[in-house]
Amino acid sequence: MRLNVSDIPGGGLQTELDLPVEIDSAASDVAHVRINAFRFGKKLLIEGSLKMSLSLKCSRCLKEYSFPLNLAFRDEYNPVEEFENEDEQELTAGELDTGFYSNDEIDIPELIKEQVLLNTPMKPLCISGCRGICPGCGKHLNEGPCECKAKEIDPRLAPLNKLKESMEDRETS
Ligand SMILES: [Zn+2]
Ligand SMILES: [Zn+2]
Repeated sequence: MRLNVSDIPGGGLQTELDLPVEIDSAASDVAHVRINAFRFGKKLLIEGSLKMSLSLKCSRCLKEYSFPLNLAFRDEYNPVEEFENEDEQELTAGELDTGFYSNDEIDIPELIKEQVLLNTPMKPLCISGCRGICPGCGKHLNEGPCECKAKEIDPRLAPLNKLKESMEDRETS
């Protein structure tokens, strides 16, 4: 959905819509979005809120889980054409905070995707302190310790394991 900036009436434009958001090509989740757009000359102010449940893959155990997003945003947009005409003007901090639109159009899905990306964790975790997967046996360690871990961790069992190993050695030789 693209919005023509010059079509936005003086009193602003309110809209509410469901938008599919694709973060990685794997899945697309639907965001429920409310938007208020106001125009001041060519400057555009967009206030909105977004609610969705985003499917993410845990960075430690690769399990898919859903991450609830509920956020509000407020952004300013200026026509990129005007900015380009102001040749050799240095970017000021204030200008860096504003977004741009071109050809009198603002791309709402793109804007929403940006908001989602900004609020998605860089290293998603299915639960805080996810233990990941054992590199030895591939067991999901959130479900409990695996055999290889128990051998290393429990010092009381170490002598028993040694004994068992030596017995196994004797049996094979
Ligand atoms: Zn995990
Ligand atoms: Zn293991």
